[in-house]
Amino acid sequence: MEWEFEPVERDGDCLHCFVDPQLAPGYIGWVVPGVGVTQVGLAVNGCHRADIAGFVERLDARFGLRGRRVLDKRGGMIPVNGLLKRFHDDRILLIGDAAGMVSPLTAGGIHRSYRFGTLAAEAIADYLDGDAPNPGDVVKAAYRGDAWKHSARWCFDNLPLAACMELGLGTGGLFKRLAGKVIFDRFSAG
Ligand SMILES: Cc1cc2nc3c(=O)[nH]c(=O)nc-3n(C[C@H](O)[C@H](O)[C@H](O)COP(=O)(O)OP(=O)(O)OC[C@H]3O[C@@H](n4cnc5c(N)ncnc54)[C@H](O)[C@@H]3O)c2cc1C
Repeated sequence: MEWEFEPVERDGDCLHCFVDPQLAPGYIGWVVPGVGVTQVGLAVNGCHRADIAGFVERLDARFGLRGRRVLDKRGGMIPVNGLLKRFHDDRILLIGDAAGMVSPLTAGGIHRSYRFGTLAAEAIADYLDGDAPNPGDVVKAAYRGDAWKHSARWCFDNLPLAACMELGLGTGGLFKRLAGKVIFDRFSAG
């Protein structure tokens, strides 16, 4: 879930991310400057509700968002259970969230939607030109499995990793770099 607030001046051009096992169980919270707004979001795993008001409260000393007008709200489910077994059939090809093309670890799906959307479009054009493989098979062959990310997700959901991560991030350095790699790296998001 994400709320857009009247902009705050002091957040600069940084994307601020927060590991908070209480308010963002399983994933992260963020504060990011948008266009004429400040976006505040929380990603939580399926059985929890996103408490953005509580998150804003917790961050108030840093961002001063309490009492600011909320200009817009958006949210949705992110399908993190992996690629559907059948995501294509005769004259049908699902891509992106519809196909489950989302990292089970980070819930990032934008990069994959663009990547496989482009690939599918090219494969369909080649197919219609004649003598090219079925576009669904082309996409399937290019889609790397997510086995280690599913395992990492299981560990994150079932072991107290977030609390360790929160502690580790407080100490900075190596742990911060590792978290950056997992959450933001192209390798991880894709
Ligand atoms: C709050 C939130 C934050 C997120 N943050 C990130 C992030 O930081 N990084 C990241 O990588 N991923 C993020 N995600 C996940 C990411 O948004 C999705 O994985 C990605 O947008 C999927 O792209 P898509 O094109 O498959 O689907 P969508 O972006 O959902 O696009 C589908 C489009 O189809 C339209 N549509 C639906 N039904 C019909 C119909 N019958 N006829 C015509 N049009 C229709 C919808 O209106 C929509 O515009 C976030 C998701 C949420 C909810």
